[in-house]
Amino acid sequence: GFKTGIVGLPNVGKSTLFNALTRTAAAQAANFPFCTIEPNVGEVAVPDPRLDKLAEIAGSKQIIPTRMTFVDIAGLVKGASKGEGLGNQFLANIRECDAIAHVLRCFEDGDVTHVEGRVDPVADAEVIETELMIADMESIEKRLQGLVRKVRGGDKDAIQQERLLKAALDALNAGRPARTVAVAEDDAKAWGMLQLLTAKPVLYVCNVAEEEAASGNAFSAAVAAMAEAEGAASVVISAKIEEEISQLDPEEAEVFLEELGLEEAGLDRLIKAGYGLLGLETYFTVGPKEARAWTIPLGTSAPKAAGVIHGDFERGFIRAETIAFDDFIAHGGEQGAKDAGKMRAEGKGYVVQDGDVMHFLFNT
Ligand code: GDP
Repeated sequence: GFKTGIVGLPNVGKSTLFNALTRTAAAQAANFPFCTIEPNVGEVAVPDPRLDKLAEIAGSKQIIPTRMTFVDIAGLVKGASKGEGLGNQFLANIRECDAIAHVLRCFEDGDVTHVEGRVDPVADAEVIETELMIADMESIEKRLQGLVRKVRGGDKDAIQQERLLKAALDALNAGRPARTVAVAEDDAKAWGMLQLLTAKPVLYVCNVAEEEAASGNAFSAAVAAMAEAEGAASVVISAKIEEEISQLDPEEAEVFLEELGLEEAGLDRLIKAGYGLLGLETYFTVGPKEARAWTIPLGTSAPKAAGVIHGDFERGFIRAETIAFDDFIAHGGEQGAKDAGKMRAEGKGYVVQDGDVMHFLFNT
């Protein structure tokens, strides 16, 4: 599955947020650095009101949302790239993630220690980015050395890797993260396999005080400006509120949100932003038994999309009966859409669109 790593300095609210995300009040949120030692992994349902509508029209007995994984990664401090603190473990855990949710402390609280002794989320973001950049530079230098002999021998893959590593190193030497390198389509796969820490997409999560959850504050505004300049995304959230909401039943939660002037739980926005950040989209399968959402990367072909359900669906793929979400709703379901000529028979070359309702036909 797709994984987003939750990172940030100690005491910024990562564990609080992770607990809210995965609705486990159990995990500890203590007021001292390094309390989250093992990476905690949690699966969350991706909220999607379209799925409920489809299920209602089709009378589906069960609703199965698609899921994504969050990993709470142990706190990082200055010097992590030198192996101080839990640095090395931290870097290894980030390497395995597809994207990074970077939690920044945007709340003042004299009772909660800040490792740098001041609240300054933009400076905090730089502390972590710098550590990741140093780690990337060191690993690139090592890998370049390891490639020398193969490159001399004319190994094509090694030559490509060397070229990409050098491009990344140039960016890093100029003070820019690897994600600023423009990568050609032919290089995209090899680039991804390099697993550079600063090549991963970043979402800044501004953790603000409870009373500022709806409005944000000067700290979160500064982060939003930084994110925009970098082409990254940011969301405003109050981890404390989310933790409280996660313990309420849905109706109570709605009342609570309304009182706070919030339209939607911050976690829903966070999950959606993570989904967008990863370049993912959703298609649906709908029947009387269940209505289910499936996750695929943008631009996935119909057979590959079928393969997410079962390998046999991909191997024996014949065609996909496809109805766009809007057509399904407008015509009152599958039969209505079919009668209106809105059901398409799509072949192997079809690129699945977000919201497609699909039925796969395949050979066994
Ligand atoms: P982590 O080290 O980044 O995982 O941080 P934690 O989630 O363990 O939070 C550290 C401390 O900050 C805990 O005592 C939390 O209760 C507190 N905390 C987290 N979010 C907020 C917040 O939005 N406001 C305030 N005042 N305290 C918070």
